[in-house]
Amino acid sequence: MLHAQAADLGKGEVGKVGKVTAVHAVTLGPPWLPWETTSSCLEPTLPARRIDLHTHSSASDGTTPPAQLMREAREAGLDVVALTDHDTTAGWQDAERALPAGLSLVRGSELSCSRGGISLHLLAYLFDPDEPDFAAVRRTLRDSRVARAQRMVDLLAADGHPVTWEQVRALAGGTVGRPHIAQALMAHGLVDSVNDAFMPDWIGTRGRYWVAKAELDVVDGVRLVVGAGGVAVFAHPGASKRGRIVGDDVIALMAAAGLAGLEVDHVDHDESERAHLRALAAELGLLTTGSSDFHGDNKEVRLGAHLTSEASYDEIVARATGLPVLAA
Ligand code: AMP
Ligand code: FE
Ligand code: FE
Ligand code: ZN
Repeated sequence: MLHAQAADLGKGEVGKVGKVTAVHAVTLGPPWLPWETTSSCLEPTLPARRIDLHTHSSASDGTTPPAQLMREAREAGLDVVALTDHDTTAGWQDAERALPAGLSLVRGSELSCSRGGISLHLLAYLFDPDEPDFAAVRRTLRDSRVARAQRMVDLLAADGHPVTWEQVRALAGGTVGRPHIAQALMAHGLVDSVNDAFMPDWIGTRGRYWVAKAELDVVDGVRLVVGAGGVAVFAHPGASKRGRIVGDDVIALMAAAGLAGLEVDHVDHDESERAHLRALAAELGLLTTGSSDFHGDNKEVRLGAHLTSEASYDEIVARATGLPVLAA
C-alpha cells in the first residue's frame, strides 16, 4: 500500500544498457594483486574483495555524478560497488558507461518505505527495472517527492525565507530530497551545514518546515523487489539516532515476505545496535551487509567506510534473477 499524494513530474528510467559485460558468478580481484600467504601454510589466498553496497550519486541526494562515483570507487580500492539512489535507477546508465577496469557494479535503488508511521529505507539490488509494478511504484514515490518539496519551499517562503522551487529543482539532478532544500538554505546563509538543516527548526523529521513524503509499506516493498527478481536488504534498520526505528517483529514480517538481509555495519549504528542486528539476522536466517551510504559532500562518510563480506555478496548475486552484476 502506498501512502502517497502524487504530483505530475517523473523522471525517465534507464533499462538494461551499456557496453559492459554481465557477470553472473563470483568475480575475483585483479590477478596482478600480490597473493597473501600465512605463516602456517604456503597455499596462496586471494585478498578479500572490497565490497560497498550502498552509495548515492547526484541522481538522488549525493553530490557526485554517477560516472565520477564509479571512478572514485575504484580509486578508493573497491572491487564491487552498488549504486542505490533513492527511488530511482536514473544513474545506472552513466555509471555503466564509466565503469573502470576492475570494478563490478551492482545496480540497485533505495526505496522510501514505512511501517506504523516510521520511515524506513529498503535497499533493492539487481531487480528488473522494467518490471511494471515496481517501476510504477518508484515513479509514484518520485512524483510525491516533487509535490512534497514544493510544499516545503512554500512553507519556507511563507515565513519570508528566500528559497525558491526553481533553485531547489536546479540543485536536484534527479530524485529531489531534503538535502537539496538543505543546500538551498545553506546558499542563502540560513544554515551552516546540511546537517544543521536537519534540525527541528528547519526540515528535520516533524520539524517546522518538514512535510511527509509518500512511502511504501515496507513488507509490500520486499514483495515488490522480490517480484521483480531483485534482492531486498533492510538499510540501517537500527539507526535510532535518525529517528524512530521498527521492532524486531516488523523485521520478522519482512523476513517472512522474502527479505534477504540486514545492513548491520553502517555509520549510524553503534556497537550494541550492530550486535543486536547480527544476532537477529542469525535467528531469522538473514545475511548481513556493511556499506558506506556515501552521499558525496552531503555527508562526511567516505566510500568503503564499511564493507560487505564476500559470502554475503555472493549470496545476493546468487539470489538475484532480475539483472546480472556488470564488470568492464
Ligand atoms: P528525504 O528522503 O527527502 O526525506 O531526505 C532524507 C535524506 O536526507 C536521507 O536519505 C539522507 O541522505 C539525508 N539526511 C537525513 N538526515 C540527515 C542529516 N542529519 N544530515 C545530513 N543529511 C541527512
Ligand atoms: Fe539520502
Ligand atoms: Fe537510507
Ligand atoms: Zn542511503
